[in-house]
Amino acid sequence: MLILELTSDLDGVGLAGRLTECGAASYVVSGDPPRVVCECGSALFGRVAQLVAGMMTREWLQARVVQRVCRMEPLWSAEEVQFQALVEICESRLHGRPVAGHTLDEWQSSLARALVSQFRRSLVVAVDPFACFRLHKAAVEIAERVRNRLMASALEDEYEESLAMLRYMLDEQPLHEAELHVYVTPEGVWITDAEGAFVSDEQIERVALQDEDVTTEDLAMTILITRSPWRIVVHDAYPGAPWPSFAETVSRVFGDRAIRCEGCSTCWSARTSSGSGRRGTSEGRVRPIRRRLAPDSPG
Ligand SMILES: [Zn+2]
Repeated sequence: MLILELTSDLDGVGLAGRLTECGAASYVVSGDPPRVVCECGSALFGRVAQLVAGMMTREWLQARVVQRVCRMEPLWSAEEVQFQALVEICESRLHGRPVAGHTLDEWQSSLARALVSQFRRSLVVAVDPFACFRLHKAAVEIAERVRNRLMASALEDEYEESLAMLRYMLDEQPLHEAELHVYVTPEGVWITDAEGAFVSDEQIERVALQDEDVTTEDLAMTILITRSPWRIVVHDAYPGAPWPSFAETVSRVFGDRAIRCEGCSTCWSARTSSGSGRRGTSEGRVRPIRRRLAPDSPG
């Protein structure tokens, strides 16, 4: 016989059911702590250990991660943290993604081995301290990934909100019968008219230069919205730009009015010249401007 001491947030009835199914008749004794009593001989220790280790790398790990993330980020909703923790753990398992150096299946196997030797020493096992001690590194790493997921999802929400705001501003502008071209390169962003002449707006640039945080992209977007052309050709010579790329933002704000250049000489030369010295994505998308809205060295 084995006695597994659980905590109140673990599903004792579920565990007892799974143990019984695999031949180790089990039942729950409620109390503090709740216990699962498992009527089995040592021949079944291996199977029981696998099931208990499975619960530790799923339910227990998820509960622990949620606890940790909620403690670090008390303003996030517990449901959202719960959901992202579940997704992260399922995906890590499904794709065999290492967690603190091992896949979750490997963690489970090593826990199961440790449980079997524990069963041989003592018939009572306290699940929570047992898992705490052995899965600490995995819980810390998954909690960090869940935090990153939540931060990324907050950024996406912010981006969608800013797109909605830009579309609203665009709707307020009368449509003009002009075609503008936007060039997006690793060196910056610029705008020309259909004939290739640079388009800028001194008034907008003067205002923008007073604000340190304004980028060439913000400037270009302001000009595009105030000009409100019926058509924008987006020359994306920086396909590896960090999210969200300016090319994508223009396309999403202007919808059908923005079309992608299929590959003109400027796009190609910008792509080949930026190939070797491309800026890394770690630099971030926001670069303050200290120059006018035009290419650094045309030609
Ligand atoms: Zn082009």
